[in-house]
Amino acid sequence: MTTRKPIIAGNWKMNLNHFEANLLVQKLAASLTAEQLEAVETVVLPPFTDLRTVESVIADGKLKIKYGAQDVSPHAGGAYTGEIAGAFLAKLGCSYAVIGHSERREYHNESDELINAKNKAAFAAGLVPIFCVGEGLDIREAGNQVEHVLAQVDAGLEGLKTEQLQQIVIAYEPVWAIGTGKTATPDDAQEVCGAIRARLVEKFGAEVADVVRIQYGGSVKAANIAQIMAQPDVDGALVGGASLDAEEFVSIVRFP
Ligand code: PGA
Repeated sequence: MTTRKPIIAGNWKMNLNHFEANLLVQKLAASLTAEQLEAVETVVLPPFTDLRTVESVIADGKLKIKYGAQDVSPHAGGAYTGEIAGAFLAKLGCSYAVIGHSERREYHNESDELINAKNKAAFAAGLVPIFCVGEGLDIREAGNQVEHVLAQVDAGLEGLKTEQLQQIVIAYEPVWAIGTGKTATPDDAQEVCGAIRARLVEKFGAEVADVVRIQYGGSVKAANIAQIMAQPDVDGALVGGASLDAEEFVSIVRFP
């Protein structure tokens, strides 16, 4: 089995203006050593309006912290008022784009088809998607979480090329655990992350499935990261609330 490098990403959501973003990234830079950033790929995902600032702080300090956006347009450019093209994000030095977060699925009615188009648009612009999947509470209570998530995975990955599949990051985030303080148990996380990997083996072969990194997300904090990361098919975390606090986020990144 290949060793997959852990990836911890902080999803700031609609928090922090560019002054506040500057401060947070400076704090992360001051606390995380080059060795820690080498051991755990560390990513921040600020609002669009912070990206230029984050780029400057990271470039000036020659830091190994990566960054990305929280969404991307499915279009390459043109008359789409309010949208942001992947090429603009790549030009700002973004490595990643979050695609299909449950808040976008819910509040912006994003369909699996649109999410698939965004995954393709991200790759076309040179960005790697952090492609999010996850079930709501009703589905979990009915015991249909695996089936539901695998259908989202199938739809989101449709038509991607092998070299794209090998780079994508999949984030499993049970919707009932996001921002609620309810973390899935390590076993719950492993059940679904393991099923995702098994599906990747079945559809694309072990060589692809072995290198794809799968994150867990939903109320991850310093106190629970180690148990979650101990699961064989969990390769990282997508962290919301706890990524806004420099000390807490640093402790999460230092989990090993
Ligand atoms: P949370 O959010 O860590 O605040 O639960 C996770 C996410 O939505 O990515």
